[in-house]
Amino acid sequence: MPSITLKAVEKWFGEVQVIKGVDLEIEEGEFVIFVGPSGCGKSTLLRMIAGLEETSRGQIMIGERDATAEPPSKRGLAMVFQSYALYPHMSVRDNVGFPLKSAGLPAAEIAEKVDEAARALKLGDYLDRRPKDLSGGQRQRVAIGRSIVRDPTAFLFDEPLSNLDAALRVEMRYEIAKLHQTLATTMIYVTHDQVEAMTLADRIVVLEAGRVIQVGSPRELYESPSNLFVAQFIGSPR
Ligand code: ADP
Ligand code: MG
Repeated sequence: MPSITLKAVEKWFGEVQVIKGVDLEIEEGEFVIFVGPSGCGKSTLLRMIAGLEETSRGQIMIGERDATAEPPSKRGLAMVFQSYALYPHMSVRDNVGFPLKSAGLPAAEIAEKVDEAARALKLGDYLDRRPKDLSGGQRQRVAIGRSIVRDPTAFLFDEPLSNLDAALRVEMRYEIAKLHQTLATTMIYVTHDQVEAMTLADRIVVLEAGRVIQVGSPRELYESPSNLFVAQFIGSPR
C-alpha cells in the first residue's frame, strides 16, 4: 500500500518555479532518500510533504487521503529538524513527552510512551538531563524520540546529521538504520551526502533543479545511472 504519493507536484515562489512536476509513490515502510546539490529543492519538497510549505499545483496523498490542503498537525507525519529544536528548560523526559502532554494524554500513558521511546533510542541514561548537558548525537536522539511518541505515519528528516562531527555522523547513521528496522515506519530523508544515501536508502530520488531525474535502489543508480550528473553524484565508475 502506498504511504505517501506525490502527483504532478509543483512549487512556485512568486514567479520562480523550484519544484517541477514531481510524481512519486512511496511504499509503506520504505526508506526513501532525496539527494541532489544545494538549492535543487530537497528541503522544499520535504516541507511540502510535511505541510510546512503550500503545494502550488498537484496533489499530495497520505495513504488514501488527499492531504494537499491539510495543515501539518493533521498529516500524522513527524518532521525531525536539523536544529534539534528541543526545549532548553525541560528535561529529556519532558521534551520527549511534550507532544503527548500538549495532546492532553494522561500522565501514566505519557510515561509509558516515553519509556518505549527511551528503550528504542537508548535515552535511559540521560532522561533527567537538560539538552545543554547532552552531546550533539544525544540531542539528535531526543529529537527523534519526541517524534516517535506520536506513532507517525512517516518520519521526515532534513539533513539530520549535518551538524555532527564525522564520528558521530557514522554512529547516528547506524542508529537511524536500526531505528528503521525496529519501527518499520516509512522514512523520507534529505541529504547531500552520497554515503548516507547509499547506505541508508531502499530507494534514492535524485533531484536536479527541481526535477526528479532518476529514482532507484542504490545499486540501480550505481550500476545504471541515467546520466553523467547521477553517475558523478553517486560515484559510479562511468
Ligand atoms: P535544497 O534543500 O535542495 O538545498 P531548497 O529546497 O532549500 O533546496 O531550495 C530550492 C530553491 O528554492 C532554491 O533556489 C531556494 O533559493 C529557493 N527557495 C527556498 N525557499 C524559498 C522561499 N521561502 N522563498 C523564495 N525562494 C525559496
Ligand atoms: Mg535543504
